[in-house]
Amino acid sequence: MQINFISLASGSSGNCFYIGTNDYGILIDAGIAVRNIKKRLHNAGFDLNKVRAAFITHDHIDHIKSAGVLSEKSFLPVYATEKTHNAMDNSCIFRQKVYSGKRIIEKTMPVAFDDFTIEAFEISHDGCDCVGYTVCFNDKRFTLVTDLGYICEKAKEHIIKANYLVIEANYDEQMLDSGKYPLSLKQRIKGNTGHLSNMQTAEFLSENINGKLSHVWLCHLSKENNTPQLAYKTVADKLEEKGINVNLYVLPRTSPSNVFVLGDEY
Ligand SMILES: [Zn+2]
Ligand SMILES: [Zn+2]
Repeated sequence: MQINFISLASGSSGNCFYIGTNDYGILIDAGIAVRNIKKRLHNAGFDLNKVRAAFITHDHIDHIKSAGVLSEKSFLPVYATEKTHNAMDNSCIFRQKVYSGKRIIEKTMPVAFDDFTIEAFEISHDGCDCVGYTVCFNDKRFTLVTDLGYICEKAKEHIIKANYLVIEANYDEQMLDSGKYPLSLKQRIKGNTGHLSNMQTAEFLSENINGKLSHVWLCHLSKENNTPQLAYKTVADKLEEKGINVNLYVLPRTSPSNVFVLGDEY
């Protein structure tokens, strides 16, 4: 079975990822307009009508912007933890709410769709009840962790078992320190419920990953405090120091990535 992955957008202006077979798929996060989801899927050879569900990581607007429209206009089930649904219901910037499509995912109870099983797990960020997701298919594990201040034990458990990993590399420490953000925002970003720096991700991966991991995509790069070249180099250099060989990519912020076909390398 062929599994395809594409990032439709990644970063503080919006996040949305598609993973699916040639017949159907799921979205993780819905932080860009539905017309862009539709267009970007179509251009990559996929169809929004064949998306079975959307899974939400947390209640920040760059992850949920069109969750309500997907639920009410495209009739998609929208999975999130109960607390995240409540936060979305109560948010004044999240205008179209999720009603008919509301589905609860429990961190202890995976959701199954034919060839996929989707598990939610806790991560450390300043949303209401933030999660990462692992999508299991064909005995392979695809894990996505974005928006996290540090890698807690649960996240670590999932990351080290992954064959494919999308992980945040939000900022370059020097660029953030010398940049124009106010001190309070710099502290928020660097804090335990903020975002991962290039170096945090690089060090974690170089110390913890094993031979199972074949692909790593760096996501949620800051526009102001990072560049794709810096993120790539910081992680690639650390992995090289340890002799670790993976396919490493940086996901674009505002445009779709290539389509990656997973599973063929085994
Ligand atoms: Zn975000
Ligand atoms: Zn966030």
